[in-house]
Amino acid sequence: MPASTRRPSTARTAVFFHAHPDDEALLTAGTMAMLAAEGHRVVLVVATSGERGQADIAPGEALGETRIAELYKSAAALGCARVVNLGYGDSGLAPGGGVAEDRPADAFIDADGEEAARRLAAILTEEGADLLTIYDPAGGYGHPDHVQVNRVGGRAAQLAGTPIVLEATVNRDPLLRGLRLVRRFYPQLDVRAFERAYSPAEEITHRVNVRRFARQKRASMAAHATQATGADTRTLGVMLKIPQPLYRLVFGTEWYVQRGLPSGTRLRHPFEVPPKA
Ligand SMILES: [Zn+2]
Repeated sequence: MPASTRRPSTARTAVFFHAHPDDEALLTAGTMAMLAAEGHRVVLVVATSGERGQADIAPGEALGETRIAELYKSAAALGCARVVNLGYGDSGLAPGGGVAEDRPADAFIDADGEEAARRLAAILTEEGADLLTIYDPAGGYGHPDHVQVNRVGGRAAQLAGTPIVLEATVNRDPLLRGLRLVRRFYPQLDVRAFERAYSPAEEITHRVNVRRFARQKRASMAAHATQATGADTRTLGVMLKIPQPLYRLVFGTEWYVQRGLPSGTRLRHPFEVPPKA
C-alpha cells in the first residue's frame, strides 16, 4: 500500500534540520520514528555531508559520500519520506572546540545565512511544513555548524511562515547523571564537556517519550557505522555500547524547547497544542 493512502486526514509534515549525518540519530530519531509511525510525513534535511567528522576513513569527499549513504540508511530505519542535503562544507571542529582554522572555503558557518535560510525556506514551503526542528542557540555542545543550524533554521521558518519551531536539545540534568554512570564502565568519557551543554530542565517545553521507538533509534545510530566503530571515545561509539536496559533509560526521552511558551509548559508531543497562557 502506498504511504499516501495510509496517512490519516490529520497527517502533517515535520522537517528535521540537522548539521551533519548522525545528529538526527542522537537528538531526534525517536520523535521522527514516532511521527512516521503515526502517519505524518517526516523529512530530514542536513546542511553538510559531515565529511570532516572523526572516522576511520580520512576526512574528505569519500567520507562525505559514505556518511550520506549512512544517512539514507538511518532515514529508512526511521520511516523518513525524503532526505535533502543542502551540500555546504562541514566546518569541522577545532581540536579544543570552536571554529576550525583550516575549514573549507564552502564551510557552512561561512555561508551567506540569508541565502541558506532561503534555500531551506523553499523546502519548507514546498513541503507545506507544519513543524521545523532546529537546535538550541548554543548549538548543543557548541559545534559551530550546530549554532548555524539554529540561526539559519530560525530564519527559514520565519520566511516560510512555519508555525511550529522546536529546538532539539537534551535535558542536561539526566544526561549528566547518565554519563556519570556510563563513565564507570568507560573512564575515558569526558563528562565535563557536557556540563554547560544543551538546556537546563526549566527551559524544556517538550518531553517526548520515545521508549517504544528505541529499536528504530538504535538502528539509526547503528547506520552511522563510520561514527560508531573503533575503540575510542567517539560519542556515538560509546552510546552504542551502552547495555540495552540503560540505553532505554538514557534514550527514552527526547527534549525540545519552543520559544515564547510560558515557563513551566510541559508538552508531550510535537503537535500538542500548548494551553492558553
Ligand atoms: Zn553535528
